[in-house]
Parts: sequence; C-alpha cells; structure tokens
Amino acid sequence: MIELDGSAGEGGGQILRTALALSLVSSQPFRIDNIRAKRHKPGLLRQHLTCVQAAVAVGGGAAHTTARNRDGGTAQLGDTCLSFTPGQARAGEYEFAVGSAGSCMLVLQTVLWPLALAEKVSTVLLRGGTHNPMAPSLSFLQHVEPSLAGGGAALLEMDLRRHGFYPAGGGEAQARIHPPASGIAAINLTERGKLLRAWAECLHAGIPKGVAERELEVLKKALGWADEQLLNRSLRANEGPGNVLLAVLEYENITEVFASYGDKGTSAELVAQRLVKEVRAYLAHTAPVGPHLADQLMIPLALAALQGRRGQYVATELTQHALTNAQVIEQFLPVRFVMTPLAERGVRVSVEA
Ligand code: ATP
Repeated sequence: MIELDGSAGEGGGQILRTALALSLVSSQPFRIDNIRAKRHKPGLLRQHLTCVQAAVAVGGGAAHTTARNRDGGTAQLGDTCLSFTPGQARAGEYEFAVGSAGSCMLVLQTVLWPLALAEKVSTVLLRGGTHNPMAPSLSFLQHVEPSLAGGGAALLEMDLRRHGFYPAGGGEAQARIHPPASGIAAINLTERGKLLRAWAECLHAGIPKGVAERELEVLKKALGWADEQLLNRSLRANEGPGNVLLAVLEYENITEVFASYGDKGTSAELVAQRLVKEVRAYLAHTAPVGPHLADQLMIPLALAALQGRRGQYVATELTQHALTNAQVIEQFLPVRFVMTPLAERGVRVSVEA
C-alpha cells in the first residue's frame, strides 16, 4: 500500500488525480491522508469526487476497484482520507458528470493515461466545466495534444458539444482515447522551432456587450497583433455566462495556449493584461514547454521511459505543482526524474527508468 500525504508540496488535488491514474496503471493500491490540505476548502470537492468515481469505473467498477473513506464507507464529498484499490483499467464507453461547474477536463486528466494503455479505443463523455481557471481548458488540451502524444498518432480527440464556464457549468464534451499501437511515444521537445502562427480567441456567452472587443483591443495593442489574429467568438447565450480570452502560439514543434478568465468585478482590460503578461513571459523565453504543460507531460514521459523510450523536454520553469507531481509519479513507477537547470535558462526534464 503506497502511503501519500495530500498536504505535501503543493498540497492540492493533483496529488490525488495523479495517484488515481498511476494506481490504475501500476495496479498498486494507495492510501492518501490530508487530501487537498493546502486548499481553501480542503477535502474532496465535486470535481475530485468525480475523479475518484471515474477511476473506479475505469477500473472495472466497484466489483473490481474500491475507493473507501476513513470509516470504510464509499468516498464522499468533504472526505480528507481515501484508500484506493485498483482493478485492471479497461477500455469502454464512459460518462462522467461533475455535477457542478468543476472542471471535467481534470476528470479526463485522471483517466487519460490508464485508458491510453488499455486494449482498445475508449470514449468518455464529460459534463461540467470545459473552460475553468486553474485547470487545462478543452482548447488547451486540443492544441497540446500532439505534445502529449509525443508527435505520434493522435492519442486524444476532443469533440466540444457545449462550453461550460464557472459558475454555471453545463459544459459537455466527448473525448476519444486511442491507445497508441506501439505504446506511449517518447516526448522530445527541446526546441520550439519557428513561430508559424499566433492568434487570440475571445470566447464569450451572456456577458455585457463590448467586453470581447475591449479585451481583444488591449491584446492587439500590447502584442502588436493584426486584426486577422483576433477572433471574436460569440457563443450561444445559454452556454454562459462566461468569458475566456485565449492566446495560441503555434511553433514548428509545439503549440502553447495561454488563458485569462473574465469574472464579475474584473475589468475587460485587466483580463487582457493578465494574458499579455503570460504571453510576453513565454515569448521572452526560448524553452518550448510552458509552466502548465510542464507538469502534464510528466506522466507520459515516465510511461514512455518504462517502455524503453527515453524522452526529454525543456520547460520555461518547473512550478511547485510540477515538482510535487514528479514526486507522486516516483512513488508509483520505478522512475526517477532528472531536472537540470540550463545555463541559457529553463529546465531540462528527463526520466530514468
Ligand atoms: P485542486 O486542488 O483545486 O483540484 P490543484 O491545485 O491540484 O487543484 P491546479 O494547480 O489548479 O490543481 O492545477 C490543476 C491542473 O491544471 C495542473 O495540471 C495544471 O497544470 C493545470 N492548469 C492550471 N491552469 C492551467 C492553464 N491556464 N492552462 C493549462 N493547464 C492549467
């Protein structure tokens, strides 16, 4: 039984999600205490509980996979302790609803790698938030998919049916996960290559008129972008209220996506300025992998290494989140992350099996 302390390092939900994923992958049970201890509302929130339920379903259901709380009962909202015993992950047609505006992309993050190692294609219908702050948005996952797949055949296809924003939720998307025929591909991302395209997308539904134009105008001036680089995408009013401003930078070897979310009480200008700051920081750097993708590439990097394919990537920085994720991965898989700061800035990440 692997013992995890949910208050270690970053102390958030990622420890739980990575543990669920790798428990299924490695067939090792785990127990976690102090779940999300460093968060404002600790314990399992709807999103995390859905991740637990999704992991049970993918592991063959309650007959094969168990998730028990401190009292030995079924995991519930607010639980801060969980014992998880996995069954074998199996391909199938799944449906998971967060039941709030919590990110359903984080639910996908939990089952993606177990299903990518299953025997055949799976479909996962997801309901909840598709574009949430502090989570990979569906747009982000679509654009970074080639990086997750190590440049190999498509591993994850996403079909967005309805956007879901906080706090209304109601988003829906279907993910198709294709296990690569020859195993998880090695990730090799050390150079960006040439910048091919850069553009901004303002997605908005049910918010005051003029907000999207103001956001795009700030971005246009600050980054010196042309009108053709600015997409104003008005969504159906019933998908809102919600607003996200995305910047997509497509290089030869990688596409990175940055996001800033509109919120009541935050001006359109501030939403855009926050995005500008992130985009400028990335443009001023040379490393290909941005801070969020850096933690999301760690599982496939480790899985590929275990199959004899050593890869590496260079990240602009490694957040506390990424460092914590690496530690959790090392507890489940016989790998060791090697993180080497580079003289020309950035950190090279590789893994030894
Ligand atoms: P919680 O405890 O509330 O579940 P957490 O603290 O574990 O959350 P976060 O740090 O919020 O989780 O990050 C969750 C995941 O979302 C990480 O993999 C992180 O890289 C990713 N993420 C966060 N923000 C973005 C973003 N803007 N774009 C892409 N991915 C993001």
